Amino acid sequence: MDRTQTIKASAQTLGLTHTKISLDQILHTAKENDYSYLDLIGYVLDCEILYRQDKAREKRIKEAGFPYPKYLKDFDLGFCKAISKKQFKQLSELAWIDGIYNLILSGPPGVGKTHLAIGLGYQACEEGYKVSYTTMQSLIKTLRTEEIDRHAGVKMRRIRASNLLIIDEVGYLPINATEGNMFFQLISELQERTAIIITTNKGFEEWTEFLGDAALATAILDRLAYQCDKIPMNGKSYRLENRKSFLEETA
Ligand code: ADP
Ligand code: MG
Repeated sequence: MDRTQTIKASAQTLGLTHTKISLDQILHTAKENDYSYLDLIGYVLDCEILYRQDKAREKRIKEAGFPYPKYLKDFDLGFCKAISKKQFKQLSELAWIDGIYNLILSGPPGVGKTHLAIGLGYQACEEGYKVSYTTMQSLIKTLRTEEIDRHAGVKMRRIRASNLLIIDEVGYLPINATEGNMFFQLISELQERTAIIITTNKGFEEWTEFLGDAALATAILDRLAYQCDKIPMNGKSYRLENRKSFLEETA
């Protein structure tokens, strides 16, 4: 084995993946820039740290389970009248995740609830928080099957270990008493431990209807509302306002 091969093997043994896969490029850069010994060691270590941070970020995003990427930078505040610039900045800074505040985004379809929730989730992954995304429907299914289905068990463990849980589309489908109780248990368990974003098309007075139980609805809302920002996003549908027809575009 030549010297580079043995160095790559040692890098692998030490778990220095970047050094292993990029040794040739590292040596090339060092030569090009006439690096001193110190420069070279510094460069190798810095590259390894950046590589690991990048991998960890990718892993957090993958494990969060977002259905598709959405970014805060693409969120048009001019369109969303419900949120002020200042409020948006505060939300983007994510201190509320450390403070374990909840966020309830309510409103009709197409106003940007999911976009904002996923955008905040992505940002949180970027900044090192553990995030889980689920729809309410999928959460209920997971809760029901967590004892018997391995995947559901893994998903629930991840949810319980998250800094931020996003529950999308709460209230779209009614749930029964057992499911309502499971949901209540989870919310109680996560209280003071996990920040939660809920998106819903229902006003609070309608929660009784989809939960089928006034006492349960009050108990859940009570837990969620403990430290909570409620943002009613009652504007127009972004989809409808921005829809483009093929005929218009080609006219
Ligand atoms: P909701 O979850 O409220 O039904 P979505 O978040 O799914 O709505 O938004 C519908 C579509 O419109 C998505 O493609 C989303 O990216 C876009 N959208 C909604 N509001 C905005 C906004 N303020 N700025 C940019 N895109 C938006
Ligand atoms: Mg949505």
